[in-house]
Amino acid sequence: MLTENALTGIIFHPDYLKHETGAHPENKERLLSIITHLRDSGRLTKLGLKEPGSATLDEIQYIHSNSQIEKARKYSELEMRLDPDTVLCKDSYNVALLAAGGAIMAVDAVGDNWDSAFALIRPPGHHATPTKSMGFCIFNNIAIAARHAQNMGKKRVLIVDWDVHHGNGTQDAFYDDPTVLYFSTHQYPHYPGTGWMDEVGTGDGEGFNINVPLPAGTDDSGFIAAFMEILVPAAREFNPDIVLISAGMDACYNDGLAQMRMSVEGFSVLASIVKSIATESCDGKVAAVLEGGYDLKLLSHSVAAVLDVFMGKEVEMENYEVSSPVRAQLDEIKKIQRRFWQSID
Ligand SMILES: [Zn+2]
Repeated sequence: MLTENALTGIIFHPDYLKHETGAHPENKERLLSIITHLRDSGRLTKLGLKEPGSATLDEIQYIHSNSQIEKARKYSELEMRLDPDTVLCKDSYNVALLAAGGAIMAVDAVGDNWDSAFALIRPPGHHATPTKSMGFCIFNNIAIAARHAQNMGKKRVLIVDWDVHHGNGTQDAFYDDPTVLYFSTHQYPHYPGTGWMDEVGTGDGEGFNINVPLPAGTDDSGFIAAFMEILVPAAREFNPDIVLISAGMDACYNDGLAQMRMSVEGFSVLASIVKSIATESCDGKVAAVLEGGYDLKLLSHSVAAVLDVFMGKEVEMENYEVSSPVRAQLDEIKKIQRRFWQSID
């Protein structure tokens, strides 16, 4: 039995399994492993559950060009790849609409009766730019959800992207926009090649794009330091009306697509930091959207750890002493970001 009065819930649709990618790291086993773990660990009965509908074309157009949408539809029909990494089957286009619909529903759910939501969706989204689908991503789910939130009256949106890859698509979508603060930690250099610290936004959006590129091998302490020393003060000044998370779990120590050293407990700490930002600024309203994460066990356990924090688990923050290369990098980023955010020490 699902809890009717739960304040935290998941967004899921069984049709997410219909995006068939064959022997590809982004496959349906990812979502199956998460749902199985949530069920076997007894969490599923404590969570709310909502089944999304598809995003409308108008909603996809918040971010994407008509020609890009039409290309995705056509390539899906023909079962052609959108790029070497982005495999499509006949159902993929419709599943992509449903994934964007899931992210939108997460926003609606936290505006409604939940405090926090986790959209367990695929395909992921943060590499899809306003004109190009790429890197396993067809449509940019979180960017569409951010615009939807604004249409619902949430003027300032904070997007925290802790996926190990830089969310180039999300950055592009809001690069000149001061109403969306985009904060990303990612392995650098790494796919997709963007995300250096000097990409800070342009025009009115200057200062509203915070990249924290980190060297391969960075562990919990490096991520926690980036969150505590850069994200927290900037977010406090920005004072968002809703907080969204591009929650990829591929910075985990055993992930096949990256070389970072995050632990499952590390994701609990990051989630609790983001939750505390949301508590301070917007009644704790936070919606997470699944991005990457390719080690099935660590993926499912990390998602569960984030949900535990959403459900109120207190997390102890250990001393986060960081290695000297990471410290040097963070100091350089802080120097850049102090131009825009005065409360960064
Ligand atoms: Zn990723």
